[in-house]
Amino acid sequence: MGENKDNEFLSQQFKDRIIQRLDEKAPNVRCPMCGNNNFILVDGLAKHTLQRKNSYEIGGRSLPCALTVCTNCGFLAEHAIGLLGLMKDVDDPNDSQKE
Ligand SMILES: [Zn+2]
Repeated sequence: MGENKDNEFLSQQFKDRIIQRLDEKAPNVRCPMCGNNNFILVDGLAKHTLQRKNSYEIGGRSLPCALTVCTNCGFLAEHAIGLLGLMKDVDDPNDSQKE
């Protein structure tokens, strides 16, 4: 916090936490497309908008996800922030003001 560059979407602290959780939960991960074992974490969360079966609500519920990209083939993987145990970091008002 405070040490963020203006053009960064996620704090270094938050990115480190995501990487740490992914290392714990998927220590020997390989790209499912090309077998590469080198990934980068995207600086920003993806936000899936959730909808009911037959209606679409603007500003409704959403599912925030961390994104990793294979450095060889560009395969994109998504990890639900809640299942990484980091939902409280997303709800932190100090972090959301940085968008
Ligand atoms: Zn790949």
